Amino acid sequence: MLEEKGFRCLFDCGSGVLSALQHKISLHELDAVVVSHYHPDHVADIGCLQHALLIDSHLGKRTATLPIYAHPYDKEQFSRLDYQKVSKGIPLEAEQSLTVGRWVVKTTKTVHPVDCLAVRFDSEKYSITFTADTAWSEDVVRLAQGSDTLVSEASTYDHMIEKIPGHLSGKQAGELAEAAGVNQLVLTHLPQYGDVADLKKEAALAFRGQVRLARAFSEITIEG
Ligand SMILES: [Zn+2]
Repeated sequence: MLEEKGFRCLFDCGSGVLSALQHKISLHELDAVVVSHYHPDHVADIGCLQHALLIDSHLGKRTATLPIYAHPYDKEQFSRLDYQKVSKGIPLEAEQSLTVGRWVVKTTKTVHPVDCLAVRFDSEKYSITFTADTAWSEDVVRLAQGSDTLVSEASTYDHMIEKIPGHLSGKQAGELAEAAGVNQLVLTHLPQYGDVADLKKEAALAFRGQVRLARAFSEITIEG
C-alpha cells in the first residue's frame, strides 16, 4: 500500500493481503486499488475486499465507491471489479498516464504469460515503480527510469531462471534497477523455496544502490 498525504492506494490484492492490510488501516480508509494483472496471487483477495466493503457500507462506515484501476484486456476479469455500489473497475491501459489520488500513474506492458502492467507512481516529491510480474523488459526499464524506488519482483534465483519463465531473478532485478538508475531497490514476490537472503546478494552484485527484501508489515518512508 502507498500512502501520501492521507490518500491510501493498494497495489495488487493477492492472497492474504486483506488480512495484512487491516494491521495497518481499517478497510473503509482505503481510497483506491491498482491491479497489475489477474493472476490469483495478485487478485485473490479482491472478492473478499469487495464483500468487506459491502459490510462497511451496510454499517454506514463507507459511502464512497472504491475505484479499482486495472487493464481491460481481459473483459471477464475486468467486469468483476464492479461490485454493487462498493467498487468500480476503472480502465488502466498500457502506456497510459492518469491521476490516482496524489500520484500521476504511468504504465507499460510487461513480459508475462498474461497481459500485465508495470506501474509507476509519481507524486510531487518522489516516484516509485512496481515491475509487477515480468521477465526482463526494456519497456519496464524505461518506465522505471530515474525512479527513487523500484519495487521489483524477484521470483527465483539466477541459476533457476530458465525454469521460471515470465519472471525475474534477484540478479535481474538488480540489473533492472541499475539500468533504470533508481536509488533504492525493494525485492518482492519472493519464492517459497531457498534462502531469499541470496536474492538480496544477487541483486546487490548488479546494483550499486540500497537493496531491501519486502517483508510483511514493513514500512518504507521515501523522502523526495
Ligand atoms: Zn503473474
